[in-house]
Amino acid sequence: MGREGSWGDLSPGDLVIGSVYVHAPFCARRCFYCDFAVAVRRSGEPQSWAEAIGKELEILGAEGLAPLAPSLATVYVGGGTPSLLGPTAMDRLRRALGPGRLEHPELEWTSEANPESLTLDVAEQWRRAGLTRLSLGIQSFHEGTLRWMGRLHGAGGARSAVAAARHAGFENLSADLIFGLPSFLDRSWRTDLEATVALGVTHISLYGLTAEPDTPLGRSVRKGRTRIADEDRYREEYLEAHRFLTQEGFVHYEVSNFALPGFESRHNLAYWDGSPYLGLGNSSHSFLPPIRRWNLRAWDAYLERVHEGRLPVEDSEVVRGEAAQLEALWLGLRTSRGIPRDQLGSPAACALVAAWEAKGLASPVGPRIVLTPEGWLLLDRLAVELSEALPTRTTA
Ligand code: SF4
Repeated sequence: MGREGSWGDLSPGDLVIGSVYVHAPFCARRCFYCDFAVAVRRSGEPQSWAEAIGKELEILGAEGLAPLAPSLATVYVGGGTPSLLGPTAMDRLRRALGPGRLEHPELEWTSEANPESLTLDVAEQWRRAGLTRLSLGIQSFHEGTLRWMGRLHGAGGARSAVAAARHAGFENLSADLIFGLPSFLDRSWRTDLEATVALGVTHISLYGLTAEPDTPLGRSVRKGRTRIADEDRYREEYLEAHRFLTQEGFVHYEVSNFALPGFESRHNLAYWDGSPYLGLGNSSHSFLPPIRRWNLRAWDAYLERVHEGRLPVEDSEVVRGEAAQLEALWLGLRTSRGIPRDQLGSPAACALVAAWEAKGLASPVGPRIVLTPEGWLLLDRLAVELSEALPTRTTA
């Protein structure tokens, strides 16, 4: 683990960061299954949030640890519920990031938003501030399911949010959908997929429900009161999404993400191709190869630290050797670009990939190996198997 305030042996002059993630932690209520870094508040705190982000950037800058490009290629505001911050939030963020940073002609600036707080005023003011893309937390159109999850919007919420976004001038809209829900909810996955496509969104992200131990859902599953989807239904729903969405013209370009051609998330592609990025806000992660560092998880602790003029870093690690190799494989395999066959480098790795192909878990695409949707269901296991079959590298 690294020292606070250091990029280890990295010379910051070697790297320029074109992608920034900003965490907005506020949610009006915590959903039943959620274990994200959330601060529950009746409303967001746009002023203290933007000030803290600006302050963190200032501290990083003073220590020479934020080699940001003069104008950024991608910015992603995630949460939490960024739309709870209200209409002024993105303009405040623009100012906190500094003059010119959000002026790139090709800038992709995304924010997550939840239907109940994406009002027309929020959408219009965010668009005026320069936001180019919205990612909407739709999850389902089924009333009982939304209530069970603890969501604050009803079945009509997604349609109103999309209408507000369109009215404000957003054309690039993504929808988050959740699958693998308990069967007693009687939710039709197919109906939700159809309703989402009917909204005319350009991008869809899937989330498989998991019962994280420290959530009400995790406790309920442990006590035997709730059963989430078993492996077979999880698999069926994932494959159904693949079949239906690809028929509808979407490209399944990453294990959990689908886009109409040309609407892939450039910010996420930067994560997956190993590019450097800076994370700001509580619980955010930064990656300046080979150093990864992450901030304090709790909003209050983060806020206190930046107001003391200290970096809000919880810890860091150096990603080298076998860990870097495994990570590069995992990142490559999770996208439809796959990995180059000529880098397999050992007879054992070639034999392993041939076995995947025979089982329908991978297929050749030009000179590369790409996992099939069946393979993506086993992504973690396959990446470890391949890493073990490759010759070990000792340096990154
Ligand atoms: S809206 Fe999202 S971040 Fe907030 S509690 Fe629900 S799942 Fe968690």
